[in-house]
Amino acid sequence: MNRDLYLGIDTGGTAMKYALTDGQGAALFEGEVPTLPGDPIASLQGLRAAVVPLTGGDDLPRLAAVGLACAGIVNPESGHLGRSPNLPGWENSPLGQHMQSVFGDLPCALANDVNGALYGEFRHGAGRGCENLIMIALGTGVGGGVIVSNQLLLGAHRGAGEIGHMQLDAGGPECTCGGRGCLEAYAGSVGILRAARANDGAAVAQLVQERGAALTTADLATLANSGDADAAEIFATVGRRLGQAVGNLVNVLDPDKVIIGGGVARAGELILGPCREVVPQLVLAAEAKNVPVVPAQLGNLAASMGAASLAQEKETSG
Ligand SMILES: [Zn+2]
Repeated sequence: MNRDLYLGIDTGGTAMKYALTDGQGAALFEGEVPTLPGDPIASLQGLRAAVVPLTGGDDLPRLAAVGLACAGIVNPESGHLGRSPNLPGWENSPLGQHMQSVFGDLPCALANDVNGALYGEFRHGAGRGCENLIMIALGTGVGGGVIVSNQLLLGAHRGAGEIGHMQLDAGGPECTCGGRGCLEAYAGSVGILRAARANDGAAVAQLVQERGAALTTADLATLANSGDADAAEIFATVGRRLGQAVGNLVNVLDPDKVIIGGGVARAGELILGPCREVVPQLVLAAEAKNVPVVPAQLGNLAASMGAASLAQEKETSG
């Protein structure tokens, strides 16, 4: 039987999403199993059991390689997972060894979750055909990843890409990292909802009161899209801060494209429009001023698809 399938795993705090791809990168099957927060090996065994029927039997005879993306500081060479606050029990563990204990001698690739999503977009989504890419993922927090000359940028301590903690205003709002005025403090959902609760627009205040603790950025986007100027201005502020970060990054890295993903980015042009207005004001090189700033295309599948691509490349490169 040919080993013709690649397994990509996207490990979150509650679920492990997975995709099985063929050699061309098409997703043949997707699914998810629960993440057992305290127990990486049992979690991976649960996932292995789920893919046994899809990969030819107990010994996974059709599986060629496995890739895993997860939040935290991932060292792809040593296999060590460092700081990873959302995965207690996985944090500071030899993840590469855990993978081997469950998947045997199959080639295994590891990546940070945003790098996994970036790699998925690079191979199969909004970044196809680019050599230099930046991705910013707007969620509860703000993650980032960078590809330079077709390679993920890892950095000396494997911690590169913390775009969310780029400081935009030393006197700005508090960030979860303990600093002030980071991009995340403006463009993560925590920061956006804080801005909404401090907003004195009548319709925003009414929404805040009605939704209480259940308020989401999607509620706020619905209000903005219905024509409320105060709600739209909250997103425009997010977009301008995002544009400030993107402009700085473009000056340093000169990418072909900047991809904006994550749940908050579903607000779409409410954020991207104001972002695109700020970028050219900050970018020096005339050719780079109109760098495309585009939405991600693969949604929830990005990181598992990217992990599968990294697995395939690891297998191919030996
Ligand atoms: Zn921060």
